[in-house]
Amino acid sequence: MTIESPYPMLSVAEALATVLGQAEALPAQRVDLSAALGLVLAEAVVAPAPLPPFPASTKDGYAVIATDGPGDYPVIGEVTAGRVADFTLTPGTVAYITTGAPAPTGADAVVMVEETEALSAVQGQRMVRIHTRVKAGADIRPVGIDVATGQTVLAAGERLGAAEIGLLATVGAAQVAVYPRPRVAILSTGDELVEPGQTIAPGQIYDSNRAMLMAAVTAAGGIPLDLGIAQDSAAQLEERIQQGLQMGVVLLTSGGVSMGDLDLIKPLLERAGTVHFGRIRMKPGKPLTFVTVMANQQRKLVFGLPGNPISSLVTFYLMAVPALRKLAGWPAPELRRVQAHLAQPLPLDAYRPEYHRATLRWASELNNGNGGLLATSTGSQSSSRLLSARTANALLELPQAKGALPAGAVVSALLIGEIDG
Ligand code: AMP
Ligand code: MG
Repeated sequence: MTIESPYPMLSVAEALATVLGQAEALPAQRVDLSAALGLVLAEAVVAPAPLPPFPASTKDGYAVIATDGPGDYPVIGEVTAGRVADFTLTPGTVAYITTGAPAPTGADAVVMVEETEALSAVQGQRMVRIHTRVKAGADIRPVGIDVATGQTVLAAGERLGAAEIGLLATVGAAQVAVYPRPRVAILSTGDELVEPGQTIAPGQIYDSNRAMLMAAVTAAGGIPLDLGIAQDSAAQLEERIQQGLQMGVVLLTSGGVSMGDLDLIKPLLERAGTVHFGRIRMKPGKPLTFVTVMANQQRKLVFGLPGNPISSLVTFYLMAVPALRKLAGWPAPELRRVQAHLAQPLPLDAYRPEYHRATLRWASELNNGNGGLLATSTGSQSSSRLLSARTANALLELPQAKGALPAGAVVSALLIGEIDG
């Protein structure tokens, strides 16, 4: 007699649509600019005032009246950045000015210092020779030329990088409304697991998934919360799962979702909430289980990740990362897809689409010298072999088919890291 999983097998696309259908952006919060990097804006930001707020010199030099033209002029005052002139420029006079300083009333242009020559004072009056003729408006930034009053400088849904945070500061914002980082509780399960740093007994292995998933959650913009290791006992698992549901909006468990006698996670989650799927047609990661549970008036997302480290990591990227992004307000939460040329032939799986770990780098010789991305396999793709994720920045989406793809074939690839080679 064969034992069949009772769960229907979903495609990856169906599973992802299900997950994203259950994930909603978290309630927005106001945070200081210093805490906003990488977060998504929950509201548009409008400039309350123009930039520059005054006509500002773009050069160190002399504020002039353009029609005066070249010649020797008295320097009747000076204005430096942060100050305002207490005099008015009249025809036949100039004033010393620095970059960013407000042009004095009466001035309509600036001549840069390189086009001038300081002369000796005449009867105590500072003098300068202007060598060049400039047009009205030269080297003066008009009010509002960079940012106009009422202009939308950032739209809701935009993610804040360094430039965007600079823009917020430019318009005087000290705090900003963003979607918060999702809190993610992470539990390892298995009697064989030992915390790194402890001594290991026969039959035991170190828990690699928890350290890895904590790091992956941080990298994906979430806040990891450590739930430790649970033994394969229903009572202990149940208690930790309940604890995790209180702590985070997402709970990740690893292990205990396949078909063994001690794979207790699926039945426990079935009792706790709604199981949306328990099997996906993909390699690795077939037994990935996705459940939602209502707790504290909030819909919690639970991913029962498979135990093998690679299955755990690949399913985390494919399903949990888009979910975390959606919770964090990303309008397009899916992993980014690019095209890559295979550096070597790759075998295909006849029964399941495969997510082959590879390192992408830019190769200028591809596409007749126009350049393209070259995908180098990380080697043996066994789901227990964490080395197959080392240096990988992409998952190649290999179709389910007999045979192999030749070197040079173009495949689609999902980005899981930076292209830094
Ligand atoms: P399971 O799904 O619990 O049967 O686990 C599948 C395989 O993954 C077994 O070889 C486990 O020992 C291994 N495994 C499960 N959890 C972890 C973990 N946290 N770290 C490393 N290996 C694990
Ligand atoms: Mg186990």
